[in-house]
Amino acid sequence: MFILHCSDADGKSVSLRYAPHASSLTNMDGTPVLASRRLTQEHRWEDAVRISPQQPGRKLANPTVLKIQLGLGCNYTCSYCNQSSQVDAMAMTKTADAYAFLVDLDKWLKEPPARIEFWGGEPLLYFRKLAILVPELDKRFPDAEFSMVTNGSLLTEEIVEFIARYDICITVSHDGPGQHLRGEDPFEDPKRGDLLKALWQERKTGERMWFSSVLTPDNSDPAALRRWFVETLGDESVVTSLEGVVATHDDQSLAGPGVWNAEQYRSLKDAVAASFETGEALLIPALREKARSFMESLLSGTPSTSMGQKCGMDRSDHVAVDLHSNVLTCHNTGANAQHGLGSALAMDEVRLDTSTHWANRECCSHCPVLQLCGGSCMYLEGEQFAQSCENEYQFGLGVLDGTLRRALGLKLDRIEGDVRRPARRKVIPIAMEDSFVRA
Ligand code: SF4
Ligand code: SF4
Repeated sequence: MFILHCSDADGKSVSLRYAPHASSLTNMDGTPVLASRRLTQEHRWEDAVRISPQQPGRKLANPTVLKIQLGLGCNYTCSYCNQSSQVDAMAMTKTADAYAFLVDLDKWLKEPPARIEFWGGEPLLYFRKLAILVPELDKRFPDAEFSMVTNGSLLTEEIVEFIARYDICITVSHDGPGQHLRGEDPFEDPKRGDLLKALWQERKTGERMWFSSVLTPDNSDPAALRRWFVETLGDESVVTSLEGVVATHDDQSLAGPGVWNAEQYRSLKDAVAASFETGEALLIPALREKARSFMESLLSGTPSTSMGQKCGMDRSDHVAVDLHSNVLTCHNTGANAQHGLGSALAMDEVRLDTSTHWANRECCSHCPVLQLCGGSCMYLEGEQFAQSCENEYQFGLGVLDGTLRRALGLKLDRIEGDVRRPARRKVIPIAMEDSFVRA
């Protein structure tokens, strides 16, 4: 239970009690802040499976979401990439392996997936594999939704036409004004820029394409990000979203782009909260959805026991495979080290033993933004987890503040309660002896 100390529009103090595990928000006298919604029998919550290395998760041969990893190669070298530490562990696949993958798929996949995602690295580096896989999968699973995340720098007219023909839902990873942390800006090359704009014009109806950015210390204002895309595409209707706040998956990101100072965290929280007041956040799907599901959790009393991890890869019906049919912890990992979980051809033997559900982490169980965060990356540990968690925490505070501002007209000033944060190791500078330096 936490106490949210807030102030209203007149600056008057208002305190609320918030229990994230029961999703209950009440006034200090216990009266509910929002009218609650009673759930019918059919809408009872199911408990999420709380995986850990000691209690591994399983994977199903009839996944609702099938993620196909084409390879981890990329033509960019984003400074905070969550895959770069996995490239050496990737099982190499050739274009011809796409045919073997399709043959094997028939042997293990029991039902059509609702969604099929094509992942890199940069998936368009593997266009020849896509040209084999997509038409065949479209034939086999006509009702499945296809999607792909690309940096948008390798588009050609042929690829734009291919995407349209197979109605692939496209997310373009691009950091707008902070793109320098990723690499070149495809919009600065006239031909590439024109192809991206052409793809946007073709895909924009029905939200079949959006641009998505990572919040980093120098690029943390969602409204400014959205404005950048609106101006670059000359289109107020452009859909910009967020991949989230930067996580730290390796030493490089821990040494720089994934680490924020106090001032940068303050700017992040202020910018995120303010975007809810201006309404910009409601135009940004990732923020809108976080606020919506948080309000939904309060209205329905969503118990934390039903919450899985934020990315869904702890779920048995979300399955990531490479073209050798190796099952992976997720599409961002390689099969030749600990994240290779076994073969899809022997799905009963696959064990997700690399990851930890948030309920098995003390900090998450004592976190006021748990319902907004969902536990950061499930396989990170140590320093990498602690820093990623802190980034998520500060982002979550901004969303919580923004949601309260929008829904209740209250500004979040501080949180009281048993908040437990994971500590990053302190680096203690070693002062050299004068005599040693002189010698
Ligand atoms: S912010 Fe950190 S402690 Fe809170 S839920 Fe997310 S990962 Fe867990
Ligand atoms: S486990 Fe989930 S959060 Fe972690 S890298 Fe994979 S998809 Fe991302």
